[in-house]
Amino acid sequence: MMTPHINKSVSILTDGVGCARRLNARNVSVLDTGGDRGRGVFSARDFLPGEVVIIGHIERLERIRTTNSIQLNWDVHALFEKPAVIVNHSCDPNLAIVPNRFGAYDFIAIREIYSDVEVTWDYATSEFECIGISVCLCGAANCRGGVLGFSKLPPNHPMVVSRFYAPYLEETLSNFRGK
Ligand SMILES: [Zn+2]
Repeated sequence: MMTPHINKSVSILTDGVGCARRLNARNVSVLDTGGDRGRGVFSARDFLPGEVVIIGHIERLERIRTTNSIQLNWDVHALFEKPAVIVNHSCDPNLAIVPNRFGAYDFIAIREIYSDVEVTWDYATSEFECIGISVCLCGAANCRGGVLGFSKLPPNHPMVVSRFYAPYLEETLSNFRGK
């Protein structure tokens, strides 16, 4: 009687990607934003701050930065699987990135998010230089107008102060602080 239960537990542990895909499908939906920004990702339930909203998974590594790639390290760029790749940028995001066990990023809620709200993250928190957005359409009150990457974020920016950025970028801040 115990065997089926044990097998099921093992399959969950070894099939982490399938599990992540199912969790993502339960947490969010890809919808048309109805504006110039095209598709976006919307919450399918309520989230508390700190909850994982999307588990990121790498579809393929990219040799160089592309308009859809996400930067993982100085010379490492990756195209993430849907829905992560579709999440739009905002200068006032409700998600932040955290490294995960797939070598990608999870997208966690940094404020309370109600159901049916577009989820966004700040692309400058992963990209040292950003080529995806020259004119930002996020509409936030604190919109920077364009997304130029982490290299152009002031050290006192809330996302920097809260340490909501890719770990490899810490090195650049040590350099700032060392000066
Ligand atoms: Zn903006």
